[in-house]
Amino acid sequence: MSHYQHILLAVDYSPHTDYVANKAKSLADTYQAQLSIIHVLDNIPMPDTNYGAVIPLNENSDYDLLEIEKTKLMELGKRFAVDDDNQWLVWGVPKEEICSCATQQQVDLIVVGSHGRHGLALLLGSTANSVLHHAHCDVLAVRLLDN
Ligand code: AMP
Repeated sequence: MSHYQHILLAVDYSPHTDYVANKAKSLADTYQAQLSIIHVLDNIPMPDTNYGAVIPLNENSDYDLLEIEKTKLMELGKRFAVDDDNQWLVWGVPKEEICSCATQQQVDLIVVGSHGRHGLALLLGSTANSVLHHAHCDVLAVRLLDN
């Protein structure tokens, strides 16, 4: 098997984020792969900006919520040694934007957390499940145990 060269970590800032991020970082170190992170804004109303779907981290916005989201991503990136150019803040539907970013950036492994839902939640679909079915590359679903 060829080694992974570019790993994309999808973060939702749940309490499990560091646990999943540590797995992605460890894989990136093991394979000497590039590590990228993505957070998709799906729950904040966007003002009428000129940004499009991808939001540049290095430009100031007058929108407080956006600045908070940028800061959170940059802090996480710093802690896990992710290059500024490999941090993606995108507005849209998480499963779509994660897969689309992976394709555009030639990612060969996406790392997501998975609550291993079942029953109705599984029928409705989780982000991890959707990414697993739509991605064009390998996907690592890190099992999360809720206490
Ligand atoms: P969920 O299926 O919503 O419980 O999320 C499972 C995993 O999908 C999370 O652990 C993240 O890896 C990823 N994810 C969910 N929402 C987002 C988001 N808004 N942006 C980036 N990744 C996300």
